[in-house]
Amino acid sequence: MINKNNIVRRKSKKIYVGNVPIGGDAPIAVQSMTNTKTTDVMATVKQIQDLAKAGADIVRVSVPTMEAAEAFKLIKEQVKIPLVADIHFDYRIALKVADYGVDCLRINPGNIGKEERIRAVIDKAFEKNIPIRIGVNGGSLEKDIQSKYGEPTAEALVESAMRHVDILQKYNFDNFKVSVKASDVFLAIDAYRLLAKKIDQPLHLGITESGGLRSGSIKSAVGLGILLSEGIGDTLRVSLAADPVHEIKAAFDILKSLKIRARGINFIACPTCSRQEFDVIGTINTLEERLEDITVPMDVSIIGCVVNGPGEAEVSDLGIAGSNNKSAFYEDGKRQRERFDNGEIIERLEKKIRAKASMISNK
Ligand code: SF4
Repeated sequence: MINKNNIVRRKSKKIYVGNVPIGGDAPIAVQSMTNTKTTDVMATVKQIQDLAKAGADIVRVSVPTMEAAEAFKLIKEQVKIPLVADIHFDYRIALKVADYGVDCLRINPGNIGKEERIRAVIDKAFEKNIPIRIGVNGGSLEKDIQSKYGEPTAEALVESAMRHVDILQKYNFDNFKVSVKASDVFLAIDAYRLLAKKIDQPLHLGITESGGLRSGSIKSAVGLGILLSEGIGDTLRVSLAADPVHEIKAAFDILKSLKIRARGINFIACPTCSRQEFDVIGTINTLEERLEDITVPMDVSIIGCVVNGPGEAEVSDLGIAGSNNKSAFYEDGKRQRERFDNGEIIERLEKKIRAKASMISNK
């Protein structure tokens, strides 16, 4: 019972990171970044696989040295999900990972140095059909832009981004996307709004260095939520000082909240009060954990009493409305004859959800 939103998406050019389309009418892609040592191939492959399992479309890996570039080759051979190599300054690393099958280069052309180096990277990107992500960050603006504006402003971030854009456009290279991240929510929003008017390329959204699991998720939800609700953004990363798998979960929660993209169960649960007839909090926590493997979009309401239980259940795929001893069970918005003993809700609802998920995916 997923409703549509009324967001009008900004028109952007479609590019491809591996087989994942970004921009145009493509679904908004979710990405994260590994935080293992890239030279630890086994740990990095494991983390990439965990991220893919959580629903990531794309994973970024930092490649700071030639040794890491050699490790990247081994990593790339072992994973299916498209990989972005995060490179700062050293154009030789970009050339190397391009030969090793990288799906996107995150490198700012203005930081590569001499003209012939920039040309070498762009020629290679043309040859291998590899897109580039220009990534501007409020914390690392060029010195002259910093002194011109005095502090990071939206205009400063966009001026920095446009320098890199101009270089790519000089070479007629338009296979790129751009980010203008800042840790300040308003600054990031203003910068993306400004940039969205200047270029047609897809935009990679992010509130950088947003914080820990809770505070960072909320800050990202506010910032990215505002932009996405205005139709701005083609791919996103939630940056958290936490296990990156949480970044994927938070990103999907943001997209789910805005009814932009659904994955897995959208739980609707009441905050509980003294009227609750069963342990709503224990039920939701257990089911959220047990049902992480479900990828089929579905609304499930778990409500403690009849005050709001029937109303929510009637607009959900599955629902429980708490009642004395035995609670009412709803499917497809309709109350069913069977009722669940309040001590068995978790087990019985899990079975129902799994059955519903396999029914939907076999349709
Ligand atoms: Fe309390 Fe019932 Fe509201 Fe839940 S739905 S918060 S149990 S009144």
